[in-house]
Amino acid sequence: MRRLPLGPTLRAVTSSPALDPAELTARARAAYGADGRLPLPDTVTWDIFPFEGALQVKRLDDPVLPEPPRHGEDGTDCSACQRTDDAYLWTDHRWRVYAPESAGVPALLLEPRAHLDLGDLDETYAAELGVLTVRIERALASVPGIGRVHFNRWGDGGAHLHVWFLGRPEGMVQLRGSCLPDWMDILPPLPEPQWTAIGRHVGTALAAYDGVAAPSQG
Ligand SMILES: [Zn+2]
Repeated sequence: MRRLPLGPTLRAVTSSPALDPAELTARARAAYGADGRLPLPDTVTWDIFPFEGALQVKRLDDPVLPEPPRHGEDGTDCSACQRTDDAYLWTDHRWRVYAPESAGVPALLLEPRAHLDLGDLDETYAAELGVLTVRIERALASVPGIGRVHFNRWGDGGAHLHVWFLGRPEGMVQLRGSCLPDWMDILPPLPEPQWTAIGRHVGTALAAYDGVAAPSQG
């Protein structure tokens, strides 16, 4: 692995847009305080931050290059590809909406039927993703007691595109914003019958759009 020496060379200005993970890591390590760690970010002072008490930033690991494969990276042994339609809340010929195991807040996943990642989508898929994102937001937001719907795509765990939709309970303002995924894991899972009912509600709401073509479909 490449390693750059600490010191003035780290502050060299370059015209290249390329990131150098080794340089980034070395620069961060050069900024360690007396405790051998980076200082805590402002995030820990936010009202929505779920943790308190003595916190410290993890020390940075060395970059891993090439990166290890994600789940289903080569399209084989992909759990999304292997699931049958009956496991989904709603499907059409190219997209499927899935409910994972019950979590602390309502959560749904939008997946293409084919083994594609975000950057693989052609213009038709891309347009449909936009339309479905809005439809799912509306469908989940129509569940009584949901105050806001957030969606995220990370994609470091599984190679098959999966867009998360999370419902933030109304009035639970402590759960607002970017810490909602943490709260989802912290709060006790919703009772299974309620989780199932939410999925059924969303599936019915999405089915109301069936036959309504997205603009890209003419
Ligand atoms: Zn797949």
